[in-house]
Amino acid sequence: MRINAFSDVCLRALMLLSASPEGELLTTQAIADGVGTPYNHVSKAVLKLRSLGLVDAVRGRSGGVRLSAKGRTTTVGWLLRELDEREDLVDCESAAGNCPMSNNCGLRGALRRAREAFYRELDELVVSSLPHRSQMEPVFVMLSTRRPA
Ligand code: SF4
Repeated sequence: MRINAFSDVCLRALMLLSASPEGELLTTQAIADGVGTPYNHVSKAVLKLRSLGLVDAVRGRSGGVRLSAKGRTTTVGWLLRELDEREDLVDCESAAGNCPMSNNCGLRGALRRAREAFYRELDELVVSSLPHRSQMEPVFVMLSTRRPA
């Protein structure tokens, strides 16, 4: 199963914030640089993470966001479920036309169960436990070279 680009950006941003020194604020631009994604996409992801209570925001000139207590314990499975608004993996009913085989379709149910199994596998995986030193060090070195003097 493939996760969508928005979910991927949310996960990357949470990993970056998890690896930041405790309490340090990151601007949206720093997150965008750190996760290699355009500012506009990251801005939407940060808004969503705020609305889910996973990051805390501080306004002002030296403001930014940092991981919240909830963000520190959230799991990959929980987050992906929250971000997945599709009822089904396939468009059984769509503007282009409804599938004529939708009556008691066994495939539809099987795909729903498979998606649930996919999320269940990730329900114990805490996002903040994922980043490790050799993965994140080059990212923070890159960010420090871009920081305004
Ligand atoms: S065959 Fe079943 S799962 Fe596939 S589109 Fe039709 S109703 Fe949906």
